[in-house]
Amino acid sequence: MEPARTYVNIHTHRPTGHSIELRTAGIHPWEADRMPVTSLLPLGETVQAIGETGLDFAKGAPREAQYAAFRAQLQLARQYGLPVVIHCVRAFNEVLRELATCPPRTAIFHGFIGSPEQARQVVAAGYYLSFGERTFRSPKTVEAMRATPLERLFLETDDSPTPIEEIYRRAAERLGIPETHLQEAALANYKTIFG
Ligand SMILES: [Zn+2]
Repeated sequence: MEPARTYVNIHTHRPTGHSIELRTAGIHPWEADRMPVTSLLPLGETVQAIGETGLDFAKGAPREAQYAAFRAQLQLARQYGLPVVIHCVRAFNEVLRELATCPPRTAIFHGFIGSPEQARQVVAAGYYLSFGERTFRSPKTVEAMRATPLERLFLETDDSPTPIEEIYRRAAERLGIPETHLQEAALANYKTIFG
């Protein structure tokens, strides 16, 4: 049996080594015009997912460069049979369209700040959502988290210094369920995707 305090932190820029933290390789949409996708190659054996990649229409590289980098990384994900970690800001329909055009094994929308309806669309497409500190700032995003079935839900610290334990505590409180349920669900989801 797993120890009781196993936390999956699906997306962090500040790895601690104390929780399960995903190892990814990718080019962020903010850097899509600065780094060629070929710079990711060869992919290390420890890489578990491609990302974060996606589209950000609020800031970042010019859109053509973002599209090119995202598409190339979706191809790479298919080639290696890897899931993708998605960064998506004000480009929801566009990201879903790209994923449908070149479907990866699965996708995790990290730092999700969309609406409950958008969360349902991600779930209907067969993908996962990850919530973090910013989730708790917006009632709409808390509703989106509530609309996400536990078997599609992850939590993350992203670039926040807040410990992952605290993110779980707050999410459990908002969802009105025991924190251990969240831990078990995220761990089960992690195992489903990454074995
Ligand atoms: Zn991001």
